[in-house]
Amino acid sequence: MTPAVLENGPTQAGPTVLVVEDEEKTRHSVAEGLQLEGWTVLTAATGDEALQVLAGGKFDLMVLDWMLPGLDGIALLRELGSRGAQVPVLMLTARDTVTDRVTGLESGADDYLAKPFAFAELVARCRALLRRPQLVTGRYLSCEDLQVDTRARVAVRAGVEIPLTPREVDILEYLLRRQGEIITREMLEHDVWKQARRFTSLDNVIDVQMMRLRRKVDGDGARRLIHTIRGVGYRLGKGPA
Ligand code: CA
Repeated sequence: MTPAVLENGPTQAGPTVLVVEDEEKTRHSVAEGLQLEGWTVLTAATGDEALQVLAGGKFDLMVLDWMLPGLDGIALLRELGSRGAQVPVLMLTARDTVTDRVTGLESGADDYLAKPFAFAELVARCRALLRRPQLVTGRYLSCEDLQVDTRARVAVRAGVEIPLTPREVDILEYLLRRQGEIITREMLEHDVWKQARRFTSLDNVIDVQMMRLRRKVDGDGARRLIHTIRGVGYRLGKGPA
């Protein structure tokens, strides 16, 4: 029999999500809530159990608690990373310091939600992760012949490493994770420069920085990937802006 060809067809059911949480009450309420969204939900109570479940099927998203008995959330992420797994991960945790957040994201989580959380917030974060194309989550990002290893923080175009400053790596990662989308200067200011609205706008700083980055990434612009959207911001992707 020919394999089914409807995998990505419009008739496909909702996304398949794995919820990993040792606390039974939270696990059940999250699972039930996500099922009400029409999603297929599987659960695991430990990191080891999660590895078994993940090995048995394809998942669109994992909601992962940090504090688990045995193999904890971070260890599980590292294990998955070493196996080259691509599932987007929303990390749940009671811990909420900047260091924790950074550790979580650097270990391969795509987003982070501190407990206690509102269920609507959880669903919104899940939806945002599910909207992202698979390609732009995880450690390795690419667009055409541009590749970035976000953990080693190395960018390569057409097989040649591009020397980038830490800030330029941050910007490039941000653009690659949102490729095809228009990125405003305000988004860069808030998400990359981590600045709240200031009295003096960073627009000029950002424009200069983007010009430098584009020179490095696109060179003479034969196959331009970073496009300026006049008066709005930037977009990374192939083809004209
Ligand atoms: Ca827990």
